[in-house]
Amino acid sequence: MRLILLGPPGAGKGTQAKRLIERYGIPQISTGDILRAAVRDGTDLGKKAKQYMDAGKLVPDEVVIGIIEERLQEADCANGFILDGFPRTVAQADALNRVLANLGQAIDHVVSIEVPDEELVERLTGRRTCRGCGAMYHVKFSPPKAQGVCDKCGGELYQRDDDREETIRARLKVYHEQTAPLVEYYEKAGLLRRIPGQGSVDEIYARIEGVLGG
Ligand code: AMP
Repeated sequence: MRLILLGPPGAGKGTQAKRLIERYGIPQISTGDILRAAVRDGTDLGKKAKQYMDAGKLVPDEVVIGIIEERLQEADCANGFILDGFPRTVAQADALNRVLANLGQAIDHVVSIEVPDEELVERLTGRRTCRGCGAMYHVKFSPPKAQGVCDKCGGELYQRDDDREETIRARLKVYHEQTAPLVEYYEKAGLLRRIPGQGSVDEIYARIEGVLGG
């Protein structure tokens, strides 16, 4: 299955992708995770991307398209993948179509997870991520058992640099201007399924399973 999870920052794409990869045995491809790893490792890619990420802006299309083009050719993507955070512009979506056509593949489903902006701000300001395993928590809605410590691996929890209110507002603006047009793009392509993104993680997962056909 080749799936795109579409939705604003904080909609729950990453959380749902982590469940879906277990269910379907295909990899999650998150351009945000790939870019954060590059920043952490201080690579050329990381140096190029950091200024955009810190400002809540999009990294240039050619950079992320190059990342995805390479990643989709790896062996673990042969039976499918879940794209989380890509594409984010119409140019990226067009490029994805080209890359997949060259591989003799196509997207099967695009699931759009819809959440109002005010709830996104609350979710993102409280979001904490484990440095060790990437598990996600929320200080109010899903706190860890011990403050600052991951329940699953004991790793340290941190707040992403771009999960601060000012940057969140910038990211939401970018989403509405540059990424939201993809909803219509995929609707026209007959691939779009809309999911209300409010409720528990389990409820939202069940909705996604429902549209993917159980
Ligand atoms: P995310 O973890 O998906 O919220 O991404 C974090 C940041 O990485 C974004 O705010 C962008 O700066 C950058 N980024 C991630 N994916 C993309 C993409 N497809 N296109 C451009 N920038 C991206």
